[in-house]
Parts: sequence; C-alpha cells; structure tokens
Amino acid sequence: MSRILIVEDEYHLAQGLRFNLEAEGHSVAVEATGEAALARIDQNNDQDTGGFDLIVLDVMLPGIDGFAVAAQLRRQRRYVPILMLTARGAAADVLAGFAAGADDYLAKPFQLAILNARISGLLRRRAWQESAPEVDAYDFGGRHVDFGKLEIRVGKRSLPLTLMEANLLRFLIRHAGVTVSRKKLLEEVWGLREETDTRAIDNFIVRLRRYIEDQPSRPRHLVTVRGVGYRFIAAPE
Ligand code: CA
Repeated sequence: MSRILIVEDEYHLAQGLRFNLEAEGHSVAVEATGEAALARIDQNNDQDTGGFDLIVLDVMLPGIDGFAVAAQLRRQRRYVPILMLTARGAAADVLAGFAAGADDYLAKPFQLAILNARISGLLRRRAWQESAPEVDAYDFGGRHVDFGKLEIRVGKRSLPLTLMEANLLRFLIRHAGVTVSRKKLLEEVWGLREETDTRAIDNFIVRLRRYIEDQPSRPRHLVTVRGVGYRFIAAPE
C-alpha cells in the first residue's frame, strides 16, 4: 500500500481520484490548496518524503500554484515523486513543471487508467531505487554519484538529486559515448510516447550540468550535439 497525497481544488475530481486510488489499494489524503498540502507535509517527521510515497499535484490552485508547491518541496530537499496535473496542450506548463521539480505530468482531462499507469510507473521506479541502496554508484570527473541515496558527492559537498534527475543521469551514463536524442530520452526515461515538447529535457540537462561540470556553461561531460541531442563523456580528452 502506498501513501498518496492529492492536491486538487475541484472537489468532485478530488473525490473521484481518491475513490479510484483507494480502490487500487492506496492510502489517500486530499488537500484543496498548496498551502494546506505544504503544512501537512511540514508536520510529518519523515524528512525525505513528508510522509507520502507520491504527490498528485494540480497546477491551477486557489492560492500558490502547483509549480510553487513543487519548487518549495524540492528546496526543502524532499524527494517524494510528484505527478503534476496540467492543462491540455499547455507545453509551457509541462516545461515549468519539470523545471520546478515534477517527475511526470498528465494533461487534463485524463483517463483514470492512464493516471493509474503513471502512478504505478513512478512508484515502481521508487521501489526499485529503494531496493538497491549503496550498490548502484558511478565515479567520474572527481564526482561520486550514488543512485541509491540520490546524491552526488564532490569533495566534501553532497548534492541531492531528484528521482528523475538520477534516472536521466543514469540513462546517459549507460549510453556513455553515444549521442542520445531528446525524443529517446523522453521515451526511455519518462516513458512519454505522446507528442511532447522535447525542450522539456533541456531544463534537466542544465540542472545536471550544475552538479557534474566544473564550468556548467562550458560542459565537457554532458555535451550538446546540435540538432540531435546529448552525449555523456566520462573522461573527456
Ligand atoms: Ca485546479
């Protein structure tokens, strides 16, 4: 059983989602505003997750919006997976959601079957991450990446990674030396096969470079291949 927090101000939708997720065997809490959701998470003692295994977060909320909620959670170093509910066709929402630290998104209106599939996907990846602590690590360029703990160590500093940042970096490392297209990254890392603005990836690349490059504006490990995609190089010339 997973603990899911729904942050949604449309009462009937929120109750429908609760009913559906409880039928799937999850334990569900609902908050109608971002402020209430943050307060609830603040009160929980689990520093990493705030007491939830997943947050379903609507963008359009009466007070602070979903982007602000996601950004606030990531600033507090909470790494609970966030599935954002965006308006259909709003590519800007998707980009802003990823930039704020969301792990996946779903455009409204959506089918419950799709929502359930996305939720199981995020929970599976999380379970897999938790089942293999310590063992999954990689060293390059003076960095130690620990995929189990979701962190990069540089000297004495420890930089936290979100689940999706870690998954993206791992995928690039596994394909070291090969140019990978944005479309392939969206398909393989996020499981997004529908039409998506592939520039969503670029925000993640910018963030990863801050962690893994000595000079993020002049990347040597994570290079752009113009018009194609990105390539990871463990030991640049
Ligand atoms: Ca709403």
